[in-house]
This record gives sequence, structure tokens and C-alpha cells, in this order.
Amino acid sequence: MLYYSLKNCKNLVSFEDAVLTGLSYDGGLYMPQYIPKLEPKFIHNLSIYDIYTISMFVIKPYIGKYIPEKFLDHIIHDTLNFSFPLKNIHDNIHVLELFHGPTLAFKDVGARFMSGCLSYFSEKLGKNVTVLVATSGDTGGAVAKGFHKKTGIEVIILYPYNGISSIQKKQITSLGDNIFALEIYGNFDDCQNMVKKAFLDQEVKKKYILTSANSINVGRWLPQMFYYFIAYKQIIVENPKELIFSVPSGNFGNLCAGMMAEKMGLPIKSFIASTNVNDTIPRFLKSEKYHPFPVKKTISNAMDISDPSNFSRIWHLYQKNIFQLRKKLFSYKFTDEETLEIIKIIWQKYKYMLDPHGAIGYLGLRQYLQQQKKIHTGSDPAIFLETAHPIKFLDHMPPFLQKKIVPNQELEAFLKKKRKIKTTSLSNDFNVFKSWLLERK
Ligand SMILES: *Cc1c(COP(=O)(O)O)cnc(C)c1O
Repeated sequence: MLYYSLKNCKNLVSFEDAVLTGLSYDGGLYMPQYIPKLEPKFIHNLSIYDIYTISMFVIKPYIGKYIPEKFLDHIIHDTLNFSFPLKNIHDNIHVLELFHGPTLAFKDVGARFMSGCLSYFSEKLGKNVTVLVATSGDTGGAVAKGFHKKTGIEVIILYPYNGISSIQKKQITSLGDNIFALEIYGNFDDCQNMVKKAFLDQEVKKKYILTSANSINVGRWLPQMFYYFIAYKQIIVENPKELIFSVPSGNFGNLCAGMMAEKMGLPIKSFIASTNVNDTIPRFLKSEKYHPFPVKKTISNAMDISDPSNFSRIWHLYQKNIFQLRKKLFSYKFTDEETLEIIKIIWQKYKYMLDPHGAIGYLGLRQYLQQQKKIHTGSDPAIFLETAHPIKFLDHMPPFLQKKIVPNQELEAFLKKKRKIKTTSLSNDFNVFKSWLLERK
């Protein structure tokens, strides 16, 4: 399997080079040359396999000979060493909980998988690799934890001053060792722009082998396909039907991974891209005009993105055909008021606690099902993804619920431990960042 750049399909690279560079030199995202089909019998029998076997079947064709099967198996076991429970909320509505990993958000899976691949490649090359990443909160924590103490890899994380929650900051800044945190006096877009400029800068490139750990990197993006298979495995025990997935979306990597799973043969009827008021995609589906507005801050801040990088992959998967895309993808946006209201209602009615991101996933699913008049037991199972634990967004939760949120044991231990916060503050001027990069070590 080779990967081509979305800017020029003649620029082909291996899985190894796609992971080691992140983005093609022409600025395009990498896409696999073809999408392998899984045997219908395999999909039908999904419930009898364990999640490691399923994930191996799913990812192996994308990696081929670049990582030996034994090592790949080790990466998969290391990546998926927590649970992904599917729970019924009411009627045919289910939640897939993706927050049981070490940093309490779904990005743990992608970050851990990518760090496994990168360690393998860096050792093979005998060279150090530097991962440069801008974060609006959750990516930074997942990448810091997933790459901590991996030999041959160092990680530099740029996060916006005053732009992330206190738990997120602790997750990014307290590990030390090969993890370097930079607090930027600017917003997430500034961080992202500084990272992009560094990738193009000749002097920086002379000193470092740089790669990214955002979902543009295929090593982080593709393993997200696992969620959809793991959900299906759990639901077909009762009910072998077509599924509906609602995905709380920011950079659209998770949703696009779901679309890949569908193209590999998983029976999925519809996807719902649920967003906050940063609604470029819901507007695009209506008007076919791609017109991002400036980013608005919301309580679901991991989705405060108005120009989602992975949408180019989705648009490409549907051959830039709006009619085809509209048959499969529905998209709705919700305000902070609607988000808080539904968190309250779901708690009062069903004693289930949503976080602001999952709440938007639920709202999108409900809107879709209401339009189709399909909220009742016996209908196609409908699943929304719960992408983070509510404690990660404690300050944004309705006040009456804040007291009820209890950290799990691991988090409690993490919060109690006195750790030194290690971070360097820089202005949002690229030249300052560049000097910092060139002068260190
Ligand atoms: C990153 C993130 C999202 C958005 O996921 P994308 O793949 O970027 O669309 C949603 N919820 C949470 C909690 C996140 O951390």
C-alpha cells in the first residue's frame, strides 16, 4: 500500500514516510492508494473475535511490510489496553465511551498507536525524530502521555496561554523528560500557524527530522477506524443491522476514519457530523460553499475549529460530489445553551452524565432520528461517540453537576501527586519560536 498526496496524486510515499513526514511536501494530506475490503463473513462474525484480532485485520493492509506483524501486534495491544463500553441510553440510542484511556479523551488511541509506529521507525533509522504539535487541549495530553520516555523521539507541544483547562495543562506540562511544553501568548490558530511555518523552514529542517502528531498524520488518523468496528462487535450480539453514528467533530479526523471503516465493508447507514457553533461543514452541506468564519470559543473547546483539515479527505472520498455526500452525511450545529440544557436533561432522566462534546453528539443524533421519525426500540441502532470524560471539562459543566463528578482512581492519583509544571512561555511571533528551536541543545 502506498499513500498519495491530495494535492498531487503522483506524489507517492510508503507508510513509513507518511508517518515520518506527516504532511506531503506539497502541503497535501496523505491518502491510502486504495481502500481494502474486508470479507463479509468476517464482518458478520465480528462478535466472536477479540478487539486485537479485529484491529489487526483492519489496519494490517495499510501498513503492509513496513512493520513486522509481531511488532504490530505489540503496538495494537499497547494501544488498546483499556475498555470501550457501548451503553444503551434510551430506546435505540447508544453511547460508545471512548474516554477510558490514560488522558480521558479519545485521542489516546491515535496517539499511542502512532508513537508505537514512530518508535519502530526511529530505531530502524538510528535517528532521533522530533514531533511538533499544536493543541487546543486534548491532543497535547494524549501525545505527551503516549510518547513519554520513548527512545529516539522528542515532543514539542505548543498550547495557547489561557486556552486550555487546568487538567489539560497539567497533563501536558508535568511529564518532562522528552516532552517539552511551550505556552504561546496567542490562540490555537497562532500555535498551529507557528507549527506549519516550522515545517517549511529550511534552517529548522536542517537541524530536525520533524513530524506532526495531529490527525493529519496517517499513523494517528487510521487507528481511529477501530472504534467503529468495536462498536459493531458489541451491538451485533443482539442485532445485526445497519448502524447510524453521530460524531462530535472538530478537525473531522474521527468522522473521516468512520467513513473509511464503512468503505472497508462495515454496514453503516448514515453519519452525523455534530458540531458546535463553528459550523463550516453544516453550512457547506446546505450551500456547497466552503466558507470558514473566525473561530468562536465554546464550552466544547476541543471542537473550536472552523477550517477542519480532514474535510479534504472526506470530500475526496466522495469524489467531490455533494449529492453522494448528502446521502451519507448529515450535519447539525448546536449552541452552548443547547449543550448545557441536554446535559441536564439526560442526567435528570437517565442518570447518564454527558460531557459537552458527547452532548453535541447526542443532540446531532436526536435531531437526525427525529427527522426520520426513528427514535424507538427496534429501529436501527444509533450510536453517538462520547469523546471525553466530563471531569476534563469540569469548569464547563452545569454547576449542580460539578460536585457529582468523581475522578477515577488513576486520575485522582495523578491530580494528587505534586509535580513540577515545566513550561516555557513564548510570544506568538514565529521568529522567536524559530530562534528557540535553533538555539536549544
Ligand atoms: C479532538 C476532539 C474532538 C474532535 O475530534 P476530530 O477528530 O478533530 O473531529 C471531539 N471531542 C473531543 C473531546 C476531542 O478531544
